[in-house]
Amino acid sequence: MVGAGWAGLAAAVAAIRQGHKATVFEASHTLGGRARAINAKLPNGISAVLDNGQHILIGAYSETLRMLQTVGVDAELALLRLPLALVFPDGGGLQLPRWPAPLDAAWGILSARGWSLTDKASLIKTALRWQSDSFVCASTDSVADLCIGVSPRVMRELIAPLCVSALNTPAERASGQVFLRVLGDSLFGGAGSSNLLLPRVDLGRLFPEAAARWIEAHGGQVQLGQRIGQIQPDPARTAWHIGEQAFDAVILANSLPNITKVLSNIELLATQSVATDIRNWVRLAGALRFEAITTVYAWAQGATLQAPMLALRHDHPGDDGQMGLAPAQFVFDRGQLGGPAGLLAFVVSASHLDRSSLQAQVLQQAKDQLGLTLHPVQTVVEKRATFACTPGLRRPPIHIAPGLLACGDYCDGPYPATLEGAVRSGIEAAVALGDSANNTQS
Ligand SMILES: Cc1cc2nc3c(=O)[nH]c(=O)nc-3n(C[C@H](O)[C@H](O)[C@H](O)COP(=O)(O)OP(=O)(O)OC[C@H]3O[C@@H](n4cnc5c(N)ncnc54)[C@H](O)[C@@H]3O)c2cc1C
Repeated sequence: MVGAGWAGLAAAVAAIRQGHKATVFEASHTLGGRARAINAKLPNGISAVLDNGQHILIGAYSETLRMLQTVGVDAELALLRLPLALVFPDGGGLQLPRWPAPLDAAWGILSARGWSLTDKASLIKTALRWQSDSFVCASTDSVADLCIGVSPRVMRELIAPLCVSALNTPAERASGQVFLRVLGDSLFGGAGSSNLLLPRVDLGRLFPEAAARWIEAHGGQVQLGQRIGQIQPDPARTAWHIGEQAFDAVILANSLPNITKVLSNIELLATQSVATDIRNWVRLAGALRFEAITTVYAWAQGATLQAPMLALRHDHPGDDGQMGLAPAQFVFDRGQLGGPAGLLAFVVSASHLDRSSLQAQVLQQAKDQLGLTLHPVQTVVEKRATFACTPGLRRPPIHIAPGLLACGDYCDGPYPATLEGAVRSGIEAAVALGDSANNTQS
């Protein structure tokens, strides 16, 4: 495997479970890729472990939860399981009770605070339509198309934040098909599927470190600080060379720009049919567009929220009564999630502005909506956080060429760019090894 993000590590675990030998090469000195831990210092001088971005998992992440179990992580301890809630600091919004689906969703809608009967009826009517269509729509539909008939308040307070947090793409540009898939899996996927699972440990401890230990305990290798720039096909076309080592198959789980670079080198040395396979794959990958996510970590002595996670309003009046720019959609109380007391993480999905403008606006938003004056700790802007999950998007497949596979959250699959999408693609690539390579070293 090239790349020790969640996809590459999941692929290595799955490949070993199928009897293959696996070596993982990771360019950086930290495991986990975009979902990794980072170190920081709080304004009071205390060291803290943050994440490259605040993450949420949901109960419907079945493969991720199975993978955590495989590598020995106790998900019940590592993740705080809460019924789905999109509640604002003023108490408005939607909160599902701990009831079986779909009763929980029905009651959540009927009891949503701050919504009129018309708001509630508009959502129930639309949700019933989605259900009667088996959560399937035309591939060209956007989320906004699906929601024609939903009241502006429900759109603003539920659909828009849900869509941008799940697909990291605004509703008017987001794929209706993928949104409905996530919604269907979470609302009708069985007990607990719609639950929010909030990490109580940093993202490195949540999966990547346990996965690396598991891989090494099962005869595999994880090599950090190994940036792979070249992979060469064997002259006899039966193996792939990475440096001095030969492998029967290679799974590229690194970031897309790196994969494209590696593939263009291979293309020059490959047979005509492999070169054609590579060109086709690179064309699909090259058409993907990306969205940013910004996480603003801020701290104040004694700062806390009424819940571990709150939704924030986009259009909230400031002290002067003017509508201020309020970029963050959610805020997390890291103190309630195993982190230092007073530390909050604000998430700005599909973010556009530069780091300092966003940070300043988020600190103002904290003042306006939470009544908190916070000190900035660290602002992480991931410019290529996820691919833009737009209607009708064709995503590159797992197979690139014989013995050459890809995995990553962007690969073709039912999920948007999420941990679940990454883990699923890793498992799928490992399963495909059986078809792509007759041998056992990858
Ligand atoms: C800020 C942010 C917030 C997010 N929030 C959520 C969320 O709430 N819920 C959710 O489910 N998902 C969320 N995601 C998405 C999730 O993090 C990703 O879908 C997932 O981490 C992708 O994993 P991956 O293995 O496909 O890719 P990556 O994590 O990008 O892994 C690629 C790995 O390859 C390595 N690499 C690159 N080049 C080379 C090379 N040449 N040689 C060797 N190694 C190389 C990289 O260092 C990296 O470790 C978020 C993402 C971000 C950025």
